[in-house]
Amino acid sequence: MTPHGLKRKVLISGASIAGPALVYWLHRSGYEVTVVEKSGALRGGGYPIDIRGTALEVVRRMGILPQLRDAHVGSRRLTFLDADGGEVASLAPAAVAGGAEGQDLEVRRGDLAEILYALVRDDVEFLFGDSVDTLDQSGHGVDVAFRSGRRRTFDLVVGADGMHSHTRGAVFGPEEQFHHYLGYCFAIFTMPNTLGLSREVVLWNTPGKAGALYAVGGNDELHAFLTFHQPELPAGVVRDPGAQRDLVAATFAGAGWEIPRMVGALRDADDLFFDTVGQIRMPHWSSGRVALVGDAAHAPSFLTGQGSSLALAGGYMLAGALAEHRDHTAAFAAYERGTREFVTMNQALVGHGSATLFPTTAQALEQRNTALRGLEALPTATPRPAHTALTLPAFPSP
Ligand SMILES: Cc1cc2nc3c(=O)[nH]c(=O)nc-3n(C[C@H](O)[C@H](O)[C@H](O)COP(=O)(O)OP(=O)(O)OC[C@H]3O[C@@H](n4cnc5c(N)ncnc54)[C@H](O)[C@@H]3O)c2cc1C
Repeated sequence: MTPHGLKRKVLISGASIAGPALVYWLHRSGYEVTVVEKSGALRGGGYPIDIRGTALEVVRRMGILPQLRDAHVGSRRLTFLDADGGEVASLAPAAVAGGAEGQDLEVRRGDLAEILYALVRDDVEFLFGDSVDTLDQSGHGVDVAFRSGRRRTFDLVVGADGMHSHTRGAVFGPEEQFHHYLGYCFAIFTMPNTLGLSREVVLWNTPGKAGALYAVGGNDELHAFLTFHQPELPAGVVRDPGAQRDLVAATFAGAGWEIPRMVGALRDADDLFFDTVGQIRMPHWSSGRVALVGDAAHAPSFLTGQGSSLALAGGYMLAGALAEHRDHTAAFAAYERGTREFVTMNQALVGHGSATLFPTTAQALEQRNTALRGLEALPTATPRPAHTALTLPAFPSP
């Protein structure tokens, strides 16, 4: 409540993973929440993502663990191929990702977003197809002008608007200051499952290049993924889909296996998602009455497989801090104190050009393949400490 007995009003920008997770906990502790999402409807799609360690406890406390278990993809195997498509090794996916088999969840990103949204959609206001234009916190709250022309004042604003957060840009300045390029570009799209793959991933590697086909169920669609090492950030292609397609086609020209068909499918795909691989690292996640959560604050990159887990845990920690501390400055400081080490450990799982799944030199690829052949003989892997490094405090009672 405000000093006048009114509920405190929070605007959250972004309705993907971090946003709705934060909504759930803030609503529980009595905040009046509005969510603004740029897209006209909830965005589906994306590769299957992992929920591990601490984040599993978050979704358990939210009561959605059974639904997520039902949505669990449960890939049976990850098969590595060489340049000509010959098999290098075939493993349980957890053996490679350092996950806890039987506990960790792998769900389609769209399914996770849908389950989170269904949990909160009737409790708070969602404004789809709109976004924040300007934020002014010179008064006693944050005066927000929306692109649609709406104007409102909130006590607090939280940016949950992803890696290329507009909220971060408006309050903290240009992305370049915080973006750490990790030396890869990637393209994700869907294509027909003409190979008859089922609940499995097939990964083709040559030095600095990789192509993966991911069959989520026994259905007729494959999630296709192409990634390649690019030492310097190709800044010119980031907002130009034509240039992205040309860059991918030129990079993979002459490659073997199914790559020519994948490049052809990418040319026709209407759901192409292209980006450079990088992390967001910021000295602070809040300024005045505005805070950031999830990828907007600390994107770890898909190479860590921890983006959604950090977003879920971050939403819980931020809402917990706001439930405990009446003063937002103290709350934002507590959120950061409690979460930063966890984030740092997870971001440290990868460095520039160092992803285990995508070696950039012939020597590194050979070493990786030798290690994989050795892993085939091992029953399970040990979960990574970074996945469970945060012990969640009990959520403060309202
Ligand atoms: C369509 C889509 C597909 C994805 N596919 C993958 C994938 O295949 N593999 C993977 O590892 N990660 C993927 N991600 C990213 C993954 O969801 C995040 O890394 C992780 O879950 C953290 O989530 P987040 O909520 O912090 O950010 P995000 O999931 O990036 O969500 C940000 C949300 O903010 C919205 N938004 C952006 N700008 C504005 C604005 N100005 N105003 C209002 N809303 C805005 C976006 O539409 C989106 O809904 C994808 C994200 C999206 C949106």
